[in-house]
Amino acid sequence: MTRSLGGSELAATIRHDASVAAAALTEMGIQPKLAVVLATADESTAWYVRSIAGAAKRTGILCDVVDLGPDATTEQIHSTLVDLGHDPDVHGVILQTPLPKGTDLDILREAITPDKDIDGANPVSLGRLIAHLPAFAPATAQAVLALLDFHDVDLPGKTATVVGRSTVVGIPAAHLLVQRDATVTVCHRHTADLIAGVRSADIVVVAAGIPGLITAEHIADGAIVIDVGTTATDDGELLGDVDAASVAGRAGALTPVPGGVGPVTTALLLNHTVDAATTQSARRRAEKTMKLVGLPGND
Ligand code: NAD
Repeated sequence: MTRSLGGSELAATIRHDASVAAAALTEMGIQPKLAVVLATADESTAWYVRSIAGAAKRTGILCDVVDLGPDATTEQIHSTLVDLGHDPDVHGVILQTPLPKGTDLDILREAITPDKDIDGANPVSLGRLIAHLPAFAPATAQAVLALLDFHDVDLPGKTATVVGRSTVVGIPAAHLLVQRDATVTVCHRHTADLIAGVRSADIVVVAAGIPGLITAEHIADGAIVIDVGTTATDDGELLGDVDAASVAGRAGALTPVPGGVGPVTTALLLNHTVDAATTQSARRRAEKTMKLVGLPGND
């Protein structure tokens, strides 16, 4: 019997905590605000951004969607990100992918101010995360760990395999698992024997973006499987990377798609925005006090 590791209940708890913290900040005159920068005509991305904006509103967080259109250049997106970094009313910034062909994602990620980098996209955030320094983890990778914790999956001493090595999902998920004392293997498109790499794992995290990539032959009896993959079909259906029918009965537990990692990721983005607003407002208050008492500030 394969247990379903749903994310809706956990997501609701995280959103509730974020809404309580957002209300407390608003009472103090600080309105938490998120900006989502978008440059695509892709309908599934537009749907995802609308769902973040709706969830933010319900949580008491302002959300500006900055839609630069599918012809935006690296320079235009870069200057938008720099402006948002300087805007004291904006606390969290997300750069939504996919971006227009020819734009330089590496340069753009670096333009997100680390304090506002609530989806851990700037390489500075990833470096700090790996060095155990305070930073926002990429929300999807954090959602994987949050789901495992919520469903009481023990990590120390366990073997885990992550399929996918992107810097936004696979690599940070692997690092978070290592930090939690699991022994981790990372597989990717050049892995010679994917079945061998996955079949030995107690915990399997799949983030490849290939529907149905993982079937029963990849999975050890009783393994816990977290399916991060979300591929939208032309009919608007969302497909995971795991063939759920195939692994049913073999896996000990599996996250559903949709309704698993996705809602937790969105909730964590809101939670990070509130945390960013709290940190930035505390720092501004401290800088003001330093100026009042004549100590050197940061400007
Ligand atoms: P990506 O394209 O950047 O990376 C895909 C990774 O999969 C690469 O490292 C590649 O080497 C690996 N891969 C490709 N083919 C493979 C194969 N045959 N065998 C083994 N590995 C293979 O994608 P990404 O941004 O990391 O996203 C991965 C998936 O997660 C996508 O479906 C994406 O939509 C989804 N996603 C979901 C959420 C969420 O909140 N649920 C958030 C972000 C991404």
